[in-house]
Amino acid sequence: MADYTREIEKRRTFAIISHPDAGKTTLTEKFLLYGGAINLAGSVKGKATSRHAVSDWMEIEKERGISVTSSVLQFNYGGYCINILDTPGHQDFSEDTYRTLMAADSAVMVIDGSKGVEAQTRKLFKVCVMRHIPIFTFINKMDRDANDTFDLLDEIEKELGIATCPINWPIGSGKNFRGVYDRDTRKVLVFSDTQKGTKEGIEEEIPVDDPHLLDVVSLEQKETLEEEIELLDGAAAEFDQEKVSKGELSPVFFGSALTNFGVETFLKHFLAMTSSPLPRTADCGVVDPMTEEFSAFVFKIQANMNKNHRDRIAFMRICSGRFDAGMEVYHVQGDKKMRLLQPQQMMADDRHVVDEAYAGDIIGVFDPGIFSIGDTICMPSRKFAYEGIPTFAPEHFARVAQLDTMKRKQFVKGINQIAQEGAIQIFQEAKGGMEEIIVGVVGVLQFDVLKYRLENEYNVEIRLDMLPYEYIRWIGNRDQVDVDKIIGTSDMKKVMDLKGRPLLLFVNSWSVGMTLDRNEGLVLEEFSKN
Ligand code: GDP
Repeated sequence: MADYTREIEKRRTFAIISHPDAGKTTLTEKFLLYGGAINLAGSVKGKATSRHAVSDWMEIEKERGISVTSSVLQFNYGGYCINILDTPGHQDFSEDTYRTLMAADSAVMVIDGSKGVEAQTRKLFKVCVMRHIPIFTFINKMDRDANDTFDLLDEIEKELGIATCPINWPIGSGKNFRGVYDRDTRKVLVFSDTQKGTKEGIEEEIPVDDPHLLDVVSLEQKETLEEEIELLDGAAAEFDQEKVSKGELSPVFFGSALTNFGVETFLKHFLAMTSSPLPRTADCGVVDPMTEEFSAFVFKIQANMNKNHRDRIAFMRICSGRFDAGMEVYHVQGDKKMRLLQPQQMMADDRHVVDEAYAGDIIGVFDPGIFSIGDTICMPSRKFAYEGIPTFAPEHFARVAQLDTMKRKQFVKGINQIAQEGAIQIFQEAKGGMEEIIVGVVGVLQFDVLKYRLENEYNVEIRLDMLPYEYIRWIGNRDQVDVDKIIGTSDMKKVMDLKGRPLLLFVNSWSVGMTLDRNEGLVLEEFSKN
């Protein structure tokens, strides 16, 4: 095997999805404990990248009131080279969060055992399903009182529509949490919360039939466990690697990230079950990640870090081959040969030049404003374009009014540029020109970002008038539909995106359903393939 294929083979690139507070950050931190090295996206092979660098980067964003970082953490563990893509949650939930999932080969879904499936998980999950990537479930906070285990699994299956296969099974929860039973080895991994935050600490395993098990679990708990296992063996889906790989079956694990319990066993199983970099579809067919030729696509553009220079950072996911800093590449959409690494890329002392990287890795490159989301970079000798990244449905809408009409040009330029970076989406009334602009965002914070950036970078003041719409749908079969004839509800609005595609805005999901009922054959989509 060639060296580069060995490097690609050992890559595991995944995103962690969850609802805020389920424990994503804590779980990620515990993962890092097992690996050690921390690298930030854009410095994939950093020499001395430290935590310091990570926080500096975020500090700049904080100062500017913009927090759109989705960082990538790289570390080695058990012979694997792991790239964790952080999906921004909380307030800074945005379209970037969705797009990050386009760069991952699998997803880890963290669920709070006392809360079950929550809104944000549901949204992100949909994107994973669309991509048919493997989805692994970690049910967290078992050291707190959790919902009934069967109910939790039921909820995942019903709410998310994916079959589940518990790899281990919890014994009690909260004060009565005693550990997890591994269905394969038939051993109980005994819970202890003495390992808080450290890797050290003994992990005790007791075979389920060993009388010593009763030293840690009560007789009642043991009997319950036996009953549950019997039920499980009869009712639950069997582990099936093929189904896992297609995203049809989610292996489920239980643990407590905070106390570092069940994390390593999860990591080990997960790494073995998930795949090395997946092939991706391009206009020339499916591209094998193991081919020698480098190729990548842009999935995120980081806004100007420095107000005085309109520079940006384009984050790309390497999809095939090996990247070498000095190599000449081809930017398909720009129809240009270029070198990705330029001296400007070292924006701060503590960011590092990438010497080499492989399929599965994420690199950040200096972008003088030439890249767009979804662009392909490949070798000049083998030109092709990857499938575009879909546009995801915004959930918040506002009408933008420009306060100083004399600055029309700056306004149009600024708003278009920000839209090109993918932070906002712009719509126009179906009838009418650029006078009436509607902005749609996935996370409300992006409105503040828009206002701030237009003022600071383009010197344009705007007013945002919130609109009541929450749902937007693209028309899937627009060749067969006369948009003017669509009969909607009275609160529905017809708009157009920048590409002139018609869209419908709705205030609630009921109106979406009603419009579908009233227009036979109409197909409405939540994502738009570009
Ligand atoms: P995120 O928003 O999903 O990144 O969640 P965090 O990792 O920040 O965790 C949210 C809160 O839950 C924090 O206060 C954590 O300390 C706490 N937490 C995370 N994991 C556990 C766990 O396993 N048990 C308990 N009891 N608390 C946890």
